[in-house]
Order: sequence, then C-alpha cells, then structure tokens
Amino acid sequence: MRKPVIAGNWKLYKTKDEALALIEELAPLVAGVDNVEVVVAPVFTVLPSLPAALAGTSISLAAQDVFWEEEGAFTGEVSPRMLLDAGASHVIIGHSERRQYFGETDATVNKKIKAALKGALVPIFCIGETLEAREAGDTFKVLERQVQGGLEGLTETQFAPVIIAYEPVWAIGTGKVATDEQAQEAHAFVRGVVAKMFGQTAADKVRILYGGSVKPDNVKGLMSCADIDGALVGGASLKGASFASIVRFG
Ligand code: PGA
Repeated sequence: MRKPVIAGNWKLYKTKDEALALIEELAPLVAGVDNVEVVVAPVFTVLPSLPAALAGTSISLAAQDVFWEEEGAFTGEVSPRMLLDAGASHVIIGHSERRQYFGETDATVNKKIKAALKGALVPIFCIGETLEAREAGDTFKVLERQVQGGLEGLTETQFAPVIIAYEPVWAIGTGKVATDEQAQEAHAFVRGVVAKMFGQTAADKVRILYGGSVKPDNVKGLMSCADIDGALVGGASLKGASFASIVRFG
C-alpha cells in the first residue's frame, strides 16, 4: 500500500550537459516502471534544464536543499517558490552532509520542512546516527530527537506528504551498507515515533527510505524489509545503468 520511492542524490556532481546525458541514458531504462516513484536531485544550477528532458517520463525532480524564507536579503539562498519555478517537486532536507558541514540543526531542518510544505514541495527529510552514536548505543535516542525536532509543530495533515530517509552516517559513501536487520530495526523505530506524533494512520502511510551505500546487489534485501519503502541513493545514482537497476530492485 506504500508506493516505493527510489531517489538519486547527485550531490555535487553533474553539470548541465552531464545531467542531460544521464537522463537520456536513464529514461529508457526505467520506462514502464509504474510501481515505483523515481526522483533525481541535481545541483541547483541544473534544475531548470531538466523538466524538458523529463517530460514524457515519470521521473520527478528534487532539489538538494532549500531556504525557509520566500524572498528577501538572504544572499546565496534559494526559496521554495524558486525551486518550484525551476521545475522541482521535491526537496531533500537535512542531509547528513548539510548537518555535518553546513551547520544544519534539527531547528533549521524544521523551518525548512515547514517552508517546503507551505510551498507545495515534497520534503525528503533525512535523519541518521553517526558511528559514534551507534557505538555508544544512542541510535534510537538520536533518531527520536531528529524526527521530533524536524517535524515539530506540524499537524497530521501537514505531515502527510513528507518522505523520511533513514541514512546512517557511517553507511554514506563508505560502501558499508547497514544490514537488512539494522535498517529494518531503525525504520520500525522511526515509524513508531511518527505514530506517537501523528497517529497510526500517518505512520502506516509514511514512506521511509533507506540510504547509505545502496547498490544494485543489496537493494533487493533492503526492499524486502517490512518497513523499508525505497532508497535514497548517492554514488550508484550517478550512472544510468546502476540507478535503473536499483529502481528495478536489482
Ligand atoms: P551513497 O549516498 O549512496 O553514496 O552512500 C547516499 C546519500 O548520501 O544519500
């Protein structure tokens, strides 16, 4: 009943021409897949070049970040209405790299999620523990704090479009994927936190993606877990063949 989402986070890769070449390769490989929502997230500057290339495909466009004000004296920022204007329908918020290198906190993530929802963008809200937190036995504590902090103040109706991505920081870009059991355990816990905040119906409906070294050869096991509803893919989304194979669950 939850339609899976496979999202490619291109991070700081792909110029306009490289992005167009990737879409040209990817589109025919995922044509006809209608049981999965496919999303790609290029850098800001590439966004406006993609809608024409994506027309006639079912691939959606995401930004990798957003600011919370609509407009104003905020040099260097990009607002929800500007992302919509560029053709995006989704936006990644609170990725661990933003938290780690750019000072994102649960409070800024919360403002961004609210702004994205107000601007009719679908937030892909990222959470995940560091290796240090996992080894200290604090995984659930961290996830609970991130989910509660990021979603604070939303009503059940406002929350409804949100997609959550559980990305253990130690698994991102390291080739060290969480085991199916570790991922399932975290996803079930996160769904439980959502149930406490917004009720069981909302928890049953929310898509929770796994991210961190997802590859064609491990996606099937992850997708067979009850609470895993898709993937947020970095490295393996940069090539059409590997991303398409993940979209098809290996
Ligand atoms: P990875 O990145 O697939 O390269 O580990 C995932 C992410 O950061 O979203």
